[in-house]
Amino acid sequence: MLNLTDMQTIRALANRHHFSFSKGLGQNFLIDPAVCPAIAAYGIPDADHAALEVGPGFGVLTQQLALQAKRVVSVEIDRRLEPVLAETLQDLPNASILWGDVLKLDLKQLFAEQFGDMPVAFCANLPYYITSPILMYLLESDVQFASMTVMVQKEAAERLCAEVGSRAAGAVTVAVQLRGKAEYLLDVPRESFYPSPNVDSAVIRITPHSTPLCSAEESAPLLKMVKAGFAQRRKTAMNALSSGLNCPKAILAAAFAECALAENVRFEQLDMQTLLSLSRAITARL
Ligand code: SAM
Repeated sequence: MLNLTDMQTIRALANRHHFSFSKGLGQNFLIDPAVCPAIAAYGIPDADHAALEVGPGFGVLTQQLALQAKRVVSVEIDRRLEPVLAETLQDLPNASILWGDVLKLDLKQLFAEQFGDMPVAFCANLPYYITSPILMYLLESDVQFASMTVMVQKEAAERLCAEVGSRAAGAVTVAVQLRGKAEYLLDVPRESFYPSPNVDSAVIRITPHSTPLCSAEESAPLLKMVKAGFAQRRKTAMNALSSGLNCPKAILAAAFAECALAENVRFEQLDMQTLLSLSRAITARL
């Protein structure tokens, strides 16, 4: 198996296959030998699990996933990587590549065709330019992941794992934590990548709740409210929601009173249970 954290090997591979790194596709590849085994260990609890990866790049994480999991399917958008991956994964028969954009994948069909009854862990060093869309796409899909262990930009990791009801939280925090528990696992400095990006990274794990916090029908108005509330964080929650949802203040005042909320409370002060109650109280009055 080629050592894909060795710079000489990486340069030789790139030269051999005339590959140049694309900034636009977020191609910063991991070169710290400790990180990919750690992601695989956090993400794959036992050899009965399968793994879905997005963006294998040269295959540095794919190799570690294939050593731990029963089967690995990696989705890659950049077809220039085809000859590279054919070489780097040749000794790993349980790893295969699907070519295409992850955001256009039919996950239900992919699960049925590739994984059968296996529990599936999602593991990836995500391209930074579409971290949130990918996470939301996976979390909103109709397939269930055993867990999602992902490398993201450090600031995004902090936001995703922040407590809902604290200043560090945002709309994406609520969207993610509505569906699962988010844990901050590991800091990964910028020097751990080639080419080195301008930002540091971190590994987080999202474990879906076994019982959903709210029904599918309740989640759409809740997320709409959350986007409106966080879009104008400096205003009071009442003013932010009134303009963001185009909702009369009398309706909001009644909903705030039902939830025992002060009229000058800020949106970022509301915890998950309060957000759920407030969304129900507003929706019931519309
Ligand atoms: N896994 C490798 C590693 O850790 O070194 C590469 C990770 S690199 C940060 C992100 C990878 O995602 C690149 O290989 C890039 O081509 C791929 N990618 C970018 N956008 C994608 C998309 N929409 N669908 C699938 N793969 C994508």
